[in-house]
Amino acid sequence: IALHNAKKIGDDQCSFFSHELSEIALHRQRLITELKSTDVFQHFKTVYQPQLSISDQSITGVEVLIRWIHPELGFISPEDFIPIAEDIGAMPNISRWVITNAKKELNETNLIPEKIKRVSINISARELNIEEQAQNLHQVFKENLDFAKICQIEITETTAIYDITTSQKFIESLKELGLKFSIDDFGTGFTSLSNLKNLPVDELKIDRSFIDKIETENNSQIIVKSVIDLADNFGIKSIAEGVENENQLIFLKNCGCDEAQGYYFAKPMGIEDLKKFMAA
Ligand code: C2E
Ligand code: MG
Ligand code: MG
Ligand code: MG
Repeated sequence: IALHNAKKIGDDQCSFFSHELSEIALHRQRLITELKSTDVFQHFKTVYQPQLSISDQSITGVEVLIRWIHPELGFISPEDFIPIAEDIGAMPNISRWVITNAKKELNETNLIPEKIKRVSINISARELNIEEQAQNLHQVFKENLDFAKICQIEITETTAIYDITTSQKFIESLKELGLKFSIDDFGTGFTSLSNLKNLPVDELKIDRSFIDKIETENNSQIIVKSVIDLADNFGIKSIAEGVENENQLIFLKNCGCDEAQGYYFAKPMGIEDLKKFMAA
């Protein structure tokens, strides 16, 4: 887009745009180099966001979210660095770190398995699609079998699950370890209804963008209600992400949605704050 605009505006502007482009390329290259090094783990952190049952507002589980606090660049969003990590094949090591770090922190605070009965971990669809990476994931959970039994994988999609049979095979082998599965951001990703038919998942997670517009857009209401009914008809659970106010919660409750997560209840927090939150 920048190059296209540069052409339209004129040659004198061109150097400005190409300069901007090389800045982006340099930034990406820097992140690539750092993501390839094991030093990066020193600056990773896991935060936890509670998930609640809509009927009685009890806590059903927590979602683990990664944070990269860069010593020079500050906070780098997972939305920016996860796709890069996927491109360079760094996800297996990152997932291993997330799983073992969450297990360690939750164990140390005695929150699992009594107080927190389910831990949701985000895993890229691409990881489940590459034989070697999926096997690595299976290995990590096999080494942490007690933890695996309370874990649920949220399949996040930055690209389509292009080879459904590979994913299906690994989802089944992970389910044998006791893991549960959820489709994250359902309705915005690439999981079509025909894929859903072949995926043995336990939950659909409705994307925040629909919850956001529940109060103002009739179409979003229809989509949210349909996804809840779809999950119900499949005999699996539904959860809404990004719930920020009571009106949204009431709508979800009236539609029969099972669970909710969002700033209305709690923001993602470090382990110490989670401990306090669970005690309160
Ligand atoms: P996601 O799994 O759909 O996570 C939900 C995102 O929404 C999180 O952003 C969370 O902090 C944010 N959120 C939660 N409640 C609310 C709310 O009420 N309002 C608003 N506005 N936002 C809310 P975050 O932590 O920046 O993560 C972004 C995405 O990065 C995640 O989306 C997930 O796809 C990916 N991600 C995060 N951690 C990991 C990880 O460990 N592994 C992988 N593969 N992906 C991860
Ligand atoms: Mg998620
Ligand atoms: Mg999500
Ligand atoms: Mg989302």
